Amino acid sequence: MFWKKKKKKEKEEITSAKPEQTSAEIENFFLKISLLGDGAVGKTNLRRNYLGVGFTSDHLMTIGADFAAVDKTFEIQNKKFDVTFQIWDLAGQETFSNVRSMYYRGCFGGLLVFDRTRPTSFENLSHWIKEMEKNTGKGPVPLIVLGNKYDLIETADEVVDMEMINNYIEKMNEKSEKKRFTVDYLDTSALTGLNVDKAFETLGTSILKWLKVVD
Ligand code: GDP
Ligand code: MG
Repeated sequence: MFWKKKKKKEKEEITSAKPEQTSAEIENFFLKISLLGDGAVGKTNLRRNYLGVGFTSDHLMTIGADFAAVDKTFEIQNKKFDVTFQIWDLAGQETFSNVRSMYYRGCFGGLLVFDRTRPTSFENLSHWIKEMEKNTGKGPVPLIVLGNKYDLIETADEVVDMEMINNYIEKMNEKSEKKRFTVDYLDTSALTGLNVDKAFETLGTSILKWLKVVD
């Protein structure tokens, strides 16, 4: 799901903008994105952290997936963009063959999450990527990889080390050269909020670049 419309903002609405931008048109985008990754890596908590508390949803029980929309304004290369993210999240059990196509269809990007303290969740990343690529309806779409639960790495028995992560991201980027997007990596914590906003912002920017809205 994606559309673009232009709207004129009144000068007083965007007082924080730089003078040359006050009368500029702000571009609006509606982007469906999905959270991917093994159960219990922290997808729902990342989404909640981003949306803020007070978020409730009725979809979860009925369709096995859940979505919520949030409006954000990004400034990229001195231009402002209003982005509405429609964020999809899976309910409880991650074996969801019945909702799979609906979950991925029309997606413009994904937040691919693993648990920094659970190596199997890192090993399963490729499975999630394949699953998504098969079902978006437009092949590979921009991704950001998130190593969540960073707040636990000092105390955990096992951690996925940075060298493994960097190698994996490097390989992904070699493969995705033809796909016109770069995969970034961020350590996150849904508990402390580390890099949560940045994750969504980075994905938004990556999607707008992929759509050739920005260079
Ligand atoms: P999901 O199945 O991927 O949606 O995972 P949830 O968001 O339901 O999180 C699974 C469990 O991990 C819950 O007990 C969360 O409280 C916990 N959790 C999620 N993110 C973090 C994090 O960044 N740090 C810590 N310490 N716990 C987290
Ligand atoms: Mg969940």
